[in-house]
Amino acid sequence: MQITEIYKSLQGESTYAGLSCVFVRLTGCNLRCNWCDSEYTFQGGRKMALEEVLDEVSRLSPGGGFVEITGGEPMLQEREVVPLMKRLVSDGYSVLLETSGERPLEQVPDAVIKIVDVKCPDSGEGDTFRLENLDTLTARDEIKFVLSSRGDYEFARDFTRRHNLHERVNAVLFSPAFRKDATGARDSSHCLLDPQQLAEWMIADNVPARLGLQLHKFIWDPAVKGV
Ligand code: SF4
Repeated sequence: MQITEIYKSLQGESTYAGLSCVFVRLTGCNLRCNWCDSEYTFQGGRKMALEEVLDEVSRLSPGGGFVEITGGEPMLQEREVVPLMKRLVSDGYSVLLETSGERPLEQVPDAVIKIVDVKCPDSGEGDTFRLENLDTLTARDEIKFVLSSRGDYEFARDFTRRHNLHERVNAVLFSPAFRKDATGARDSSHCLLDPQQLAEWMIADNVPARLGLQLHKFIWDPAVKGV
């Protein structure tokens, strides 16, 4: 499979935020979100065999722990990444899959915790969510909306209610988008939507969702990759 990088850091964007985790970042994405901070994954990378990936994960986190499969869009390499996830599970790892929600998820092993985006209108990739993926969700999974405007917020709020997302999954996450050219200060000044404003909307509407912040962007310089 084509891999951009494998590294160990803290999980930053789910209810697992703050836990140490190995990231396996696959190359390539078929979407072009306006605020994407992973454009460096669109091309390049290097071809790695399944056993090579497993060896690197094991070197970074011997004997278990969290492994997140991410990208880019990892499910573009479904034929390779599904066997990888199965092996990681059978080797005792807790596996997270971060995906755009546009690719079919039926083949993802049940033990894998899916963190599935629903792209909002101002991402430029609204309407890409594959509705059939709702039927693949389990009580372990999480749904994430990355928001950059009031319009995005209203879309996420209404989508959550219309599909009873909070009853299907472990968590529904509303997360402000970060400016993709953010650098320097490790604070919310880089958010395209002020977290305080988002919090006030969520409280006023009693939305059954959890406000999420990209933890790693408050720990390291937002421009730093591989963290
Ligand atoms: S789906 Fe993810 S990797 Fe692809 S363009 Fe959107 S934010 Fe970037």
